[in-house]
Order: sequence, then structure tokens, then C-alpha cells
Amino acid sequence: MMKLNGNFQNLQQSYLFVTISQKVDEYGKAHPQNQIIKMGIGDVTQPLAPAVIEAMHRAADEMSCKETFRGYSPDSDGYPFLREAIAGYYKGFGVDLDASEVFVGDGAKSDVGNIVDLFDVDNTVLVPDPVYPVYVDTNLISGREILYLDANEDNGFLPLPEKDVHADIIYLCSPNNPTGAVYDREQLQAWVDYALENRAVLLFDAAYESFITGEGLPHSIFEIPGAERCAIEFCSFSKTAGFTGMRCGYTVIRKELQFEGVQVSKLWERRQGCKFNGVSYITQRAAEAVFSPQGRRQVMETIAYYQNNARVMAKALEEMGIWFTGGANSPYLWMKCPDGMDSWEYFDYLLNEAEIVGTPGAGFGKNGEGYFRLTAFGDAQKTVEAMERMKKLKK
Ligand SMILES: *Cc1c(COP(=O)(O)O)cnc(C)c1O
Repeated sequence: MMKLNGNFQNLQQSYLFVTISQKVDEYGKAHPQNQIIKMGIGDVTQPLAPAVIEAMHRAADEMSCKETFRGYSPDSDGYPFLREAIAGYYKGFGVDLDASEVFVGDGAKSDVGNIVDLFDVDNTVLVPDPVYPVYVDTNLISGREILYLDANEDNGFLPLPEKDVHADIIYLCSPNNPTGAVYDREQLQAWVDYALENRAVLLFDAAYESFITGEGLPHSIFEIPGAERCAIEFCSFSKTAGFTGMRCGYTVIRKELQFEGVQVSKLWERRQGCKFNGVSYITQRAAEAVFSPQGRRQVMETIAYYQNNARVMAKALEEMGIWFTGGANSPYLWMKCPDGMDSWEYFDYLLNEAEIVGTPGAGFGKNGEGYFRLTAFGDAQKTVEAMERMKKLKK
């Protein structure tokens, strides 16, 4: 008889966003005149940049004509024009990549999820708590043991390696979802040193790197010496250029990353070649346009719009005397619930008293209890309005 993968039994039911939408629906039914402002879901709201749209139109026209039509791409890891454009972008961080070290995929979620195919089941995984659930669930599905690292108010939600804890696979996300906290150069160096010492691999999620404004804060783990020998970086056009509905991202694996004498990039190439047939040509042309001078300018304008929301939110929380992380280099603000409320109590309170929807921190792990995530991906006017409502609550 066919046996199912029993590891699925180990996954926790994901009630977070289901419960949120149930509660919002119920409130909406009871209060038909409501003016709910949603600051919960981590999705962008602004449209694609004009340069991106133009590139898609041009690519669509190419597909309509026999001479320029494209079928399967010659290489599942991306067309050279996009891999080179991404490598060119890294030059801006002082990181000299070869285009063959860049692997284009359909988003960071897939790549982060699929990378575990490369690793033996008998590896210890270290994830910070609170955490983006993909890191945990993909390892549970393949049956790996997971250790949690406490991120909390004491370490500013930026945990550092602990000498007496050994791990083989380490997940870091900076700027972080859900906490918005961002590691500095020295902290990342500590992680790279730890990974090299333990012969561990560092899986670095840089999905929010474009939101970094702070001077000297690294955008890429490869800005840290030694990272080429221990890290894999995941990034995406989703938050950078509003591609959440388009699907395009990239993974960077340096040639120097080797275990047991095997180049990890070769295994990834093999894995992708086997299970993936590449991102659509039209989407890759759209992604290329993000790096044109015009595209870059337009994309940065949209990011500035979200960053301005984040500033409005941070200022309001400061005025209210609420402790928080994020905001400055991230579209997320991670606030401590006032008056000792737990995450769901505060969710209900904000919904009922101010008609604002956020995300209870408890949904991201045990250390999230008592915290709350607000996103800056909303409408500017509504963000201002939401903060005014919150300030009125706090007398
Ligand atoms: C949104 C997000 C991503 C990007 O996912 P895509 O699949 O590229 O849309 C990756 N990592 C984190 C932590 C995110 O929040």
C-alpha cells in the first residue's frame, strides 16, 4: 500500500491568516458602516513600474512573431541578459559575481523551500523565533530536526550565534520578516565566522534588501568576507519591484561554496534542471527592466512611498511611547502590545476600537507573543489615518 509522507503530521496548522480574515469578516458583518484599514498582509499594493510594463509589452510582441518567438528557455536558470543584469546590480554593493553564480527562479519562497533538496536529512537546522514559516515547514516536511534561536527584546530581535550550540543549516532573514530588524556588518560577520567554524551553510534571505537606507548596512551577505564559502543568498523582485503576482526571484551561490569537495551550485543547477523549466520569457524581460536606469528610478520611487509610510508609523509609535523594531530599513514595524496585552487580545482591541487590522506576533513563533506586526505596504493617506486613530486610543 502507498504510504504518505508522515512528516506532514508534524506541521502545525496555519491558522494565522485564516483566523484574521474570519475575525475581520465577522466584524464587517456586525458593522456594515466600518472603515477598516488593513495593515496585516505582507503584500505590495502599488502597481508595476512603467518601464516594467513597457518591457512586458515588447516581450509579448516578440512572442507573437515566428522569428522572435521563444519556447523553452535554453537554460532553466535564467536568460543571460537577466543573470548579467543581476550580477551588475551586485557590483553596486561591491560584490563581484559571475553571472553563472546567479540562478533565476519563480520567487524566493520556492527557492528557499526547494534548496533543502540539496541537504541530507541528518542535519541540524537553526531558525530564529519569530520566523517566516517557510523555513520551518520545508524542513519539517523533509524530516529534519529544528533548533530555535530566541529573538527577543533583549537582543533587539537580532540573535547572534551561541558558541555551545551546533547547527549545520542556519536561516537568517535581514531585514527581517516579521520583525523589521536588520543586522549590521559586525553581526553578520559573527554569523559568517560561526558558519565557517561549524562547517555550516548560512541561508540568507535578502527579500527586503531594497528597503535598507541606513549607511553601511549590508544589502548582501556576500559583502561579508568569508560568506562566499558558507552562504547562499535568496532575493526576489516581489517586494523590491512589486512582482508578488508576477513571480520572479534569484538565488546566488558562489563557486567557492563547497562541501565534501562538491560545488553546491552544481547540485542546485542539477536540481533545478530536473524539477523546473525556468521563468517565463516575458517575466524575465520585465525583471531585466527593473535594472535599467529608468526602471531603477521608478522602482525606488515606489519603495520611497512605502518607506514614507513606515516613517509615519514609526513616528506615531514613538509619540505613543511604544517599543518597536523595524520601520527604518524595512516595510514592517514590530511593536510591543501596550498594557501587557497578548497578541490576539491586542488584535481584537485594535479591530474593535480603531478598525485597524494587523498581524498578531504570536503567529510567527513563541517569542512573537505579546508583539504585533504592522506593514507599511498600504495607502499613504490610510496609513496616516490609522496612526491618528491609534494615537487617540492611547490617552
Ligand atoms: C515576501 C517574502 C519573500 C518573497 O517571496 P516570493 O516567493 O519571492 O514572492 C521571501 N522571504 C520573505 C521573508 C518574505 O517575506
